[in-house]
Amino acid sequence: MTTNFNLLRSRLESEQKHLTEQLNQLETSVHSIEEGREGSPFGKREEGAAETMELEKGLTLEKRIKEQLAEVEHALHKFEEGNYGLCEGCGQPIDPARLEALPQAKLCMNCKAQQAKNAKGKISPG
Ligand SMILES: [Zn+2]
Repeated sequence: MTTNFNLLRSRLESEQKHLTEQLNQLETSVHSIEEGREGSPFGKREEGAAETMELEKGLTLEKRIKEQLAEVEHALHKFEEGNYGLCEGCGQPIDPARLEALPQAKLCMNCKAQQAKNAKGKISPG
């Protein structure tokens, strides 16, 4: 019945590294699109639209990665505080199987389901 928290922690750390690298790469490419736009003449609508799409795609992805990174860092912070693996909703230990699947999980299944119910209508799928 012992969850290998050290293993989960190292998984989170490598995830953090991976996400940070992704974010750096993305910021470089988004930045280069933005720079390219500044110098472009006003008339080139088609080109501009494609660039805008790329930019929006990049920014959406960037936002998602930042959210994931924040969750991973939050979980690592909980290791520091010694309360990793405890649900932030009810304070009960989170199911080890859930942590295995999602090491940065903040809530147990019950609280997660509750949260999803409360958030219904706010978040659109896809
Ligand atoms: Zn809970």
